[in-house]
Amino acid sequence: MNFKNHYQKKRFGQHWLVNEKILEKIKEVAELNENDFVLEIGPGRGALTSKLLDSEIRKLHAIELDRDLIDYLNGRFKNNKKFSLQQGDILTTNLDSINNQITKVVANIPYNITGPILDIFVGRLGLIREYNYKKIIFLMQKEVVDRILSNEGSNSVGALSVRMQLLSKIKKICDVDPSSFSPPPKVFSSLVVFEPLKAELRLDIRSEEYIDKLLRISYNSRRKMLRNTLKSILSNDEINKLSEASKICFNLRPQDLSINQWINLADNCIKIEIKK
Ligand code: SAH
Repeated sequence: MNFKNHYQKKRFGQHWLVNEKILEKIKEVAELNENDFVLEIGPGRGALTSKLLDSEIRKLHAIELDRDLIDYLNGRFKNNKKFSLQQGDILTTNLDSINNQITKVVANIPYNITGPILDIFVGRLGLIREYNYKKIIFLMQKEVVDRILSNEGSNSVGALSVRMQLLSKIKKICDVDPSSFSPPPKVFSSLVVFEPLKAELRLDIRSEEYIDKLLRISYNSRRKMLRNTLKSILSNDEINKLSEASKICFNLRPQDLSINQWINLADNCIKIEIKK
C-alpha cells in the first residue's frame, strides 16, 4: 500500500515519532545485543522498528492493531530475516509461546491503553510469572511516569506508584516534547525504562496480595483516613491490632504511607492472621 493513502487513526493513539534524536536515544537505552529478542508494541509505520532492526539483535517481533499498516510494514521490512509481524491487539494477544524468549519490550505506546499495558508487561502484585523481561522501554505520557515515580507526601502518589515500584526498578531517561511526534499529542511524554524484578527479589506472594488489596480499598477514597476505609474489610478489633502491631497511625491517608509502611502493614496482616 502506498503509505500516503493511510489516514492516521486517533482512536489507535497514532502519533508517529519523528525526532531522530529520541529514536536514537531509545535504541541506546535498549542496549541491544545479539541475544536480544525484542517485542515491539504498535510499530506504526516503522520508524522505531527500523532503528531497532539496525542493531545486532536476534529477533524483533512486532504486534500492530491497525490492519491498514500491515502490508506496508511487511513490504518495508520483507528483506530482514530478523523481523516478524502479527496483526492483533496487544491486550488480547497470547504471548505464551514467545514470553520465554522475549528479552526486551520496546514501544511508543498508545496512551489510551497505558494502564493495561503496564499490567501485562511490568506485571501485577500477587501474580508470579515464569519469564522475565530484562528491560521494558516505553515512551509514554509524562504525567503517568511522574505519578509512577512519586513517593509518600506527594500529591501525585497513588496505588500505581506503589505497585510499579514494588514490581520493578524504574528510571526516567528524559521528557519528550509534543513536537517530537506527528501529529503532536496534547500532552508531554517521557522515555522510561522498567527493569522488572526477578521473582526472588519480589516480596512473597501473600504480602503482595495483601498490599494490593489494601491499596485498592484505601485508594478508593484517598481523602479518607485509613481507619475509615479499612472498615470495609477489617473489624474494629482487627484495625486496632493492626495499627498497634505496625505502629502506623490509622488517622493517616493512603498517600502518607511509604512503600516500607505498606510492606509492614501487609506483613502484620499475615502475622495476626487477618483474613484477606
Ligand atoms: N511505533 C510507532 C507508532 C506509535 S503510535 C512510532 O513510534 O512512530 C502507537 C501505535 O500503536 C500505532 O501504530 C497504533 O496503531 C498501535 N496500536 C494502538 N492500539 C494497539 C493495540 N491495542 N495493540 C497493538 N497496537 C496498537
